[in-house]
Amino acid sequence: MNANARQILRGRHFFANPGPTNIPDAVLRAIDRPTIDFNDAEFLPVYSAVFEGIKRIVGTSQNLFMYTGSGHAAWEATLTNLLSPGDAVLMVESGYFSESWGKMAAAHGLDVRTVATDWRQGADMAQLRAALDADHARAIKAVCVVHNETATGMMLPLPEVRAALDATRHPALLLVDTISSLGSLAFRMDAWGIDAAVGGSQKGLMNPAGLSFTAVSEKAMAAHEKAKLGRFYFDWTVMLNRSPHKSFVGTVPVNAFYGLDAAIKMIEEEGLENVVARHHRLAEGVRRAVAVWAGNHGPQLFCANPSRVSDSVTAVRMPEGFDAEVLRAAVRGRFNVSLGGGLGPLAGQVFRIGHMGDLNEPMVLGVLAAVEMALRQGRVPHGRGGVEAAMAYFSGD
Ligand SMILES: *Cc1c(COP(=O)(O)O)cnc(C)c1O
Repeated sequence: MNANARQILRGRHFFANPGPTNIPDAVLRAIDRPTIDFNDAEFLPVYSAVFEGIKRIVGTSQNLFMYTGSGHAAWEATLTNLLSPGDAVLMVESGYFSESWGKMAAAHGLDVRTVATDWRQGADMAQLRAALDADHARAIKAVCVVHNETATGMMLPLPEVRAALDATRHPALLLVDTISSLGSLAFRMDAWGIDAAVGGSQKGLMNPAGLSFTAVSEKAMAAHEKAKLGRFYFDWTVMLNRSPHKSFVGTVPVNAFYGLDAAIKMIEEEGLENVVARHHRLAEGVRRAVAVWAGNHGPQLFCANPSRVSDSVTAVRMPEGFDAEVLRAAVRGRFNVSLGGGLGPLAGQVFRIGHMGDLNEPMVLGVLAAVEMALRQGRVPHGRGGVEAAMAYFSGD
């Protein structure tokens, strides 16, 4: 036997990254079909069904624009369609993803202001209110919020953000990144007074990366008419003039639509509220396990604000002196389980368990067991019995 041979791992690869996510068999089968013309009469009903389905999941009866591109494309489309050079935007800092969206805004010549935040506690709404109140000139044209910060495992209460805008009578648009919350956490665009909701295909919507979109309020469409940032591929006006699609500039990714159509049917067959409840249940099981591991100075939840823990991803902070990347490599190499790593300044300190999309209790328990075994093998201090605690929770003990 060649001792250097890479170990062949059999059995199912357990994919527990917080995006992309597992693609259900029904979606894989729906995508696997021969090419047809995107103007073909056979395709147009699927195109419309996906538009209507996404709007129902987003909770809007307003506008929707879709792009071929990952979530970053929708970030860029949203900024460039709504803003003009030099406009101020207020970024509510949450972590790596709010920082990245802010860098993109700065690259487009926007004046990026930030509500600075402790990443473990999350944004202080009083501070947000104060920043809006202090903007007497009403220079801030948009408030940008990441609903679910995938890097830290924290969810922000959007109704409280809306309330801060209302309390200060600030007219800024409210732009929200729902990429890792849509189809996993409760989100209602129209009811919550959101002006633009950015989403992507490869997280709660259980599809490959490559499709993203923005749902847009009428108020935001009025702002779009005056917005002067450069754009073409992402221009909503160009899209609206495109018949019959009224979205996309260029080839429409037909197969991706069949995949999304299948995913929307799955979500609606289960019921959106039940999908959200399932995500909460699975997330709570993960948190019960982490709470046990945290004993004996072990790994602990990165999110230190219990009212904001995310139901789609859990970030776990390693004890001082232990490298999260070593643990991740062990989990992947020995047990064929893929976890998310720490992003930006959290690299090496944090590993992330994704629990969004097509997932059930045994899948979550498998991932937790792999992590707990790797903690033992790596001699990382931890409380024993995390998996047991998750099983007790899942079985209603
Ligand atoms: C994944 C993610 C993104 C980036 O999306 P890509 O599809 O990787 O471009 C943006 N925001 C959040 C909150 C995400 O989770």
